[in-house]
Amino acid sequence: AHLDRIAAVDGPVHAFLHVNSEEALATAADVDARRAAGEDLHELAGVPIAVKDVVVTKDQVTTAGSKILDGWIPPYDATLVEKLRAAGMPILGKTNMDEFAMGSSTEHSAYGPTRNPWDLDRIPGGSGGGSAAAVAAYEAPLAIGTDTGGSIRQPAAVTGTVGVKPTYGSVSRYGLIALASSLDQAGPCSRTVLDSALLHDVIGGHDPRDSTSLPEPAPSYADAARAGATGDLTGVRVGVVRELGGEGYQPGVRASFEASLDHLRAAGAEVVEVSCPSFSAALAAYYLILPSEASSNLAKFDGMRFGLRVEPAEGPVTAERVMAATRGAGFGPEVKRRIILGTYALSAGYYDAYYGSAQKVRTLIQRDFAAAFEAADVLVSPTAPTTAFRFGEKVDDPMAMYLNDVATIPANLAGIPGLSLPSGLSDDGLPVGFQVLAPARADERLYRVGAALE
Ligand code: GLN
Repeated sequence: AHLDRIAAVDGPVHAFLHVNSEEALATAADVDARRAAGEDLHELAGVPIAVKDVVVTKDQVTTAGSKILDGWIPPYDATLVEKLRAAGMPILGKTNMDEFAMGSSTEHSAYGPTRNPWDLDRIPGGSGGGSAAAVAAYEAPLAIGTDTGGSIRQPAAVTGTVGVKPTYGSVSRYGLIALASSLDQAGPCSRTVLDSALLHDVIGGHDPRDSTSLPEPAPSYADAARAGATGDLTGVRVGVVRELGGEGYQPGVRASFEASLDHLRAAGAEVVEVSCPSFSAALAAYYLILPSEASSNLAKFDGMRFGLRVEPAEGPVTAERVMAATRGAGFGPEVKRRIILGTYALSAGYYDAYYGSAQKVRTLIQRDFAAAFEAADVLVSPTAPTTAFRFGEKVDDPMAMYLNDVATIPANLAGIPGLSLPSGLSDDGLPVGFQVLAPARADERLYRVGAALE
């Protein structure tokens, strides 16, 4: 049914870069046969899933939205993909994204943008717009995203779906094509909070192949979501972050946010205000740390090891000239912008002033969160300052594009978990996202509070 739905709507939506019908159908048939034989299978066995194209899949093309990896077939599965397969979940295909996960609209994909199912003239968010749109358009009940600065939560917000960035280290990063290694985290996309919790339970857990993977076993997030679904939040302290939600946020987004706060109060939660003054520097720090780490991570795309190889049009064919020709042709403008920025920020003489200062800001943000979590069990804000904007509106203005992540980036800088769930429609008829943040390793709070709000 989902493959039929993809065939019917994915032409205009373009959520998928590659659809793997044969493999998905084979997995589904295998699950049916095992179930018929009485085997005790996982709760999600047979439930199909879409995977963002930045996650490597054995024998299936993986491009990260870039021409430099056009046609590249990885020789192995990411740990989270192994876990999906072990649970018996058919993988429908790989979803579209901004090139190397740089962007907030999918307009930076080298394969053309994904369209928002709510309004095909508008962006589905980014970088994981494909995963969010696939879920919103009923092409997939579940999807995998990655969130370095908001790429799961902001697309969820503007497509009316649920998206979760788990605690850094909660889901293995083995087999994720790295953007910024100290910020990257994979997580679930779905239509309900319980669905995300079930998926988080499948993909989470320690992985010895990822040195940043948390060692301790995780509690059941599905249990937390089921507890929240009773709608009772008596005794839960909810902190509204003063710095996230004022100036620059659309009036319709703020109204929807206020309505959700009323729901929380009605559920018995105590709503308090908290202040995180260092958040004013979060975006600036992020756009030094991310390009720095990205410039280093993307150095491996040299025309020798993966995907595309372009030889210089004329002159000698040296390693350096092949590298330059390949990278010149294979990377898009946003990727080049960030590589140049990051290389500059890391260069001798500038390192302390830029990268070093940004790391200090990161510590201040972590301290702000620590203080705020003394006063509240969870923090809340709008997920994104605006509803889905039109194609072309921000693509030529990097600063305007970067501002979409002003409310999601602090969580990545601190490594804490965040969830976005729909909080109704704005006055323009488009979905608004409500963000819930919890302390590191307390992801279950997101599911409890999120499920109570649904
Ligand atoms: N939009 C942000 C950026 O461009 C976030 C990206 C992400 O989370 N992968 O960096």
